[in-house]
Formats: sequence, structure tokens, C-alpha cells
Amino acid sequence: MKPIADYSSEDLSALLNDLEVQYKEAQAQNLKLNMARGKPATTQLNLSNALLDKMESYTLADGTDARNYGILDGIPECKKLFGELLGINPDQIIIGGNASLNVMFDTLSFLCLFGTGGCEPWIYSKHNGNPVKFLCPVPGYDRHFTICEELGIEMITVPLNEDGPDMDIVKKLVSEDESIKGIWCVPLHSNPQGVCYSDEVVEQLASMETAAKDFRIFWDNAYGVHHIYEDVALKDIIKECEKCGNPDRVYYFFSTSKISFPGAGIALVASSPANIKELKGHMSAQTIGHDKLNQLRHVQFFKTPENIRAHMKKLAEELKPKFDMVLDKLDETLSGSGLASWSNPKGGYFVSLDTLPGCAKRTVELAKNAGVTLTGAGATYPYGKDPKDSNIRIAPTYPTIDELEKAMDIFTLCVKIAGIEKLLE
Ligand code: PLP
Repeated sequence: MKPIADYSSEDLSALLNDLEVQYKEAQAQNLKLNMARGKPATTQLNLSNALLDKMESYTLADGTDARNYGILDGIPECKKLFGELLGINPDQIIIGGNASLNVMFDTLSFLCLFGTGGCEPWIYSKHNGNPVKFLCPVPGYDRHFTICEELGIEMITVPLNEDGPDMDIVKKLVSEDESIKGIWCVPLHSNPQGVCYSDEVVEQLASMETAAKDFRIFWDNAYGVHHIYEDVALKDIIKECEKCGNPDRVYYFFSTSKISFPGAGIALVASSPANIKELKGHMSAQTIGHDKLNQLRHVQFFKTPENIRAHMKKLAEELKPKFDMVLDKLDETLSGSGLASWSNPKGGYFVSLDTLPGCAKRTVELAKNAGVTLTGAGATYPYGKDPKDSNIRIAPTYPTIDELEKAMDIFTLCVKIAGIEKLLE
């Protein structure tokens, strides 16, 4: 498509009429397609079906019966497997439950209720009229924002650049405001843009001066081994924080939700020895232990970090044609038009698209009325408010290729219609 700026208003009206005819045809197909949530497709889940087979045994290497109570922080073989995969000392890992989001929620709740390292509980600052604040690189993951909202933590947005959060802004904010206690980070293949943090950004996050003594990085490495087009390395934030004299600064989260089964995988949190001790203290009041059989099942299935990486390659083969489809369709239909820009992720689960300002909600509405469900416009921003109303998250993993092709045809049509409507206003 030629640049939209080259169209006269008459030409634009004529183009809009044509597109509206195509839109009515699309509506007449009565399709029901969904590109809303980042769920694996059945074909991906099938690759882990051996997890459902009978277990090899339920006795741990040290003789413990995995069927019984005990082992608060996870079975040693599971900590070893994921410690090796992620390059983390197993002693600094707690294996949690079936997914990481509740480990994040619990960790933040513990900070609110009990504080950390002898600092006052964060809830006190709230009651003293000075609510705790978190930095949220945007666009970002809606469920992180929901956790903050639920716990009454105020969110401050910071731009997410191609190599991570805008560190000039982050450093200024955290050095000036003691009530800024943390930052959300999805350091590899971020949701939704697929941003991968550079070494410099990791170094700065670990070393920066913070006014709050108890400033914490919530390092959600949800897509840490989820490469599709290119393997991307990530600097070790735990070691970097240690090196910079801020060992307690980071909580590192990870799960197998998009490796084995979402909602039936295993999750972990890793941190400094002092933080792990604190977390275990709180957790011991919460549970006698998590699902060791599921941990053992994962160890028996994967066995080695190399096998996990090989499994991720198979998953990437499933995902690549879907990402290709989305990116090719965007290129074919919108490239050079000036109506949208989009991310080119190297992995992860999403493609992020920016419409012209003020067009995201309308695009999502048009798509819905033609049978294509997308993540709600605004969801990628705290409080659901995208100030420019331009960001839309595309989730290509769940639909089949055929469905995706149809959905993308309708979606790109809606991007054009919404953009031209806006220009003609
Ligand atoms: N973190 C990010 C960045 C995600 O995109 C998702 C799921 O989409 C999750 C966490 C959820 O992880 P889990 O299933 O382990 O709770």
C-alpha cells in the first residue's frame, strides 16, 4: 500500500468505501476467531504428553517418598535441573506451585505485609498516605499490572525501548523517590513486544542508586528459553546484583507454563540467600510443600537442560510458521502505509502492533464485530489506559494456521479502516 499521507481526502474516502465493502464480506462469513490470549495450541501441548504417562518411580534420589508431605522449597533434582538450565545456584531457588504468577503475587504480598531486610512493611507506607509505587515498562503484561492494582501499589509507566526500559528515566525516578520500591521486568522476548534486555540495561538495573533501601526488581523471565527465530543471551541479573553490592535486589521468576502445560507446570523463584530464607519463612506458614510428584514428573520427562532446549526447538518449529504468517500479512498489507508499526520478535509469544494514535480501541471493536477477538486495547498498559490508544497485542500461538490467515486478513483490514476513519475526522 502506498503511504497514506500521499492520498487526497477524496482518494481516502474512496479507499474507505472499498475497504468497507471488504469488511461487510468478512462479516458475512460469520467467523469466530481468537487472537487474544497467549495460550499454546494443542499441537504444542501434545509434545509434552509423555508427562501424563505413568511415572518411572516416586522415590527421590535421596530415598524420600515424593508422595508424602515435606520439602517446602522443592525436590533437589528439580532445583538442580532448572538451576542448570538458568545458570542459578540451586540453593538460591524455591520451586513453587503450578505457575509463576501466584509466586509473584505471594512475593509482592509478603513484601507488603512483612517488609524485607528489616525495612517496614510496604503496607505501612500506604497507610501513611505515601503508597508504594512500582515502575512498569510499557507496553507490558496486563497481569503484572493487575497484581499491583489488587495490592494497592501505584504504577508509574516508563518507556520500553528496543534494549529494555529507558534507563535514564528509570535511574532518575528511583534515585529521587523513596516510595518507588520496584520494577517489573520481562527481560527476554517481552510480552507483548518481544524486547530482549541488553547487557548494559541489566548492569544498570543491578548497579543503579535507589532512594528506597528495599527496592526490588521483579525479574519475570517467563520466556527465558522461548527462542523462535534466534537464540538470545541474557546477562545474569542475580550475579550482577551480587557484584554491585545489591545481592538482595532481585527476585527471579520462571515457569514451565509455555514449556510443558500452562496451569499444570512448575514455577520457581530465585533470589539471594537472605531473600530465600525470608521467603521460606513466610511460605512455611502457607504450605507444607508444593506438588513434588509434578516436580518429579518434570525431572523424569526432561532429565537434562539439553533436553529442555531440544524440546523448545520443537516448540519453536510449531510456532515459527504462525509468527511468519502474522509478520508476512502485516508486511504485505501495511508495510509502507504509515498506518501501523509492529515488533519483529525473535521469540516469545506475541507480536505488538501500534496503530495511528486513537485507533486501537476502534480497530479491536471492528475486528470483534467481524468475528476476530483480540486482547482488549489498553490491556498492555497499567489501569488498562493506553494514553495514545494505539497498542494492540497479537497472540498467534493458539489458532491454526488457516484460522490465523483469516484472522490476520480481517485484522489488517480493520487497522486500515480505523486509521482512515481517523484521518477523515
Ligand atoms: N509472565 C509473563 C510475562 C507472561 O506473559 C505470562 C503468561 O502469559 C506469565 C507470566 C504467566 O506465567 P505462569 O503461567 O507461570 O503464571
